[in-house]
Amino acid sequence: MYTWEDRARAASEKAQSLTLRPENTAGVVRAYIEHKLGDTGHLQKLYYIGPQFRRERPQKGRYRQFFQIGAEVIGPVTSGSESPLRDAEVLEMLATLLDELGIERASESNEFRGWKLTLNSVGSATDRPRYVAALREALAHVKHLMCEDNQRRAETNPLRVLDSKDEADQELINALPKIADYLDDDSKSHFAQVLAALDACSVPYTVNPRLVRGLDYYTRTTFEFTVETGLGTQNALLGGGRYDGLSEMIGGPKAPGIGFAIGEDRLILTLQAQTTEAAEKKLDAYIAPMGVEQNAAALALARELRREGLSIEVGDGTFRLKKSFEVADRVARSILILGENEVASGEITVKNFATGEQEKIARSDLPSTLR
Ligand code: AMP
Repeated sequence: MYTWEDRARAASEKAQSLTLRPENTAGVVRAYIEHKLGDTGHLQKLYYIGPQFRRERPQKGRYRQFFQIGAEVIGPVTSGSESPLRDAEVLEMLATLLDELGIERASESNEFRGWKLTLNSVGSATDRPRYVAALREALAHVKHLMCEDNQRRAETNPLRVLDSKDEADQELINALPKIADYLDDDSKSHFAQVLAALDACSVPYTVNPRLVRGLDYYTRTTFEFTVETGLGTQNALLGGGRYDGLSEMIGGPKAPGIGFAIGEDRLILTLQAQTTEAAEKKLDAYIAPMGVEQNAAALALARELRREGLSIEVGDGTFRLKKSFEVADRVARSILILGENEVASGEITVKNFATGEQEKIARSDLPSTLR
């Protein structure tokens, strides 16, 4: 954190301690309390956009001043604020946002691309101390085998050890107690309902028992969306969780809530990487009409293939074959040669530039061949 003593301006003034805000959830909850939003009895959906400051070692995607877009759903229990449906609703909204921004989803066959939702339950305010005690106890036996950072974390904030990326320590960390084994029945049932609601709306997720949040006020559902394109090692695009006891911790009424913060800088890096990839990506095919008489047929074929979702560029019948090949090789993965014979027979000559193979393919088989 950035905290320092501000210089007293006059001899009579006392120096004051100033801190730049590292995150916004606590500030939003404080505003909820101060403005008595709980008295309305309604569920509040609040958002913020702005800079945050953290004293971290800067690298790509990690800055000391960065920007967040965040939102919090908070209210009295009677407004539905504690319901697992809120958690699933927030996650479904975020999945839809990333889909609509055109960020692809990771899949089993494609796990190194696209966005991935990972979640966990860190339990209630009573589950967690029991877990932390068990974790401390287990760490006491193995911490001397761990890296220096983890030895320190084992003392100061044992939950942070679970976050560690240190290769050599992974086996030891995987063998530590899991929070899932320390959840009470209410927390277990809450988490199961969140997962069931996500299944019902087809939001893909992975449960990671090691996912925790650094701050103590988080309870139950915690989550993170990561992306594999454009961010390098800092691949957490957004994170969030439930904080059912936070309002009471800072002197307010009972007001369970759940929220998230998107790293705006990382969102932009992700979108930029995607745009660059799209610009560099070659088209599925280039159609070369052999003579102007085939121009109309070439356009008809382009229309047919585009309707199948393929990306197509059409040359012109006035181009010499050599020129068509040169242009096609630059912009597309394959060239389709459309001469009089091809139009008559319905069999198109296709050359794939990567394999160098050239063959005749029935028009109806073109979409599957070119994909
Ligand atoms: P956190 O509250 O730490 O989970 O942060 C939420 C999101 O803010 C993360 O998922 C990142 O996208 C972004 N973020 C956190 N710290 C930084 C940083 N130092 N620089 C840039 N983005 C950050």
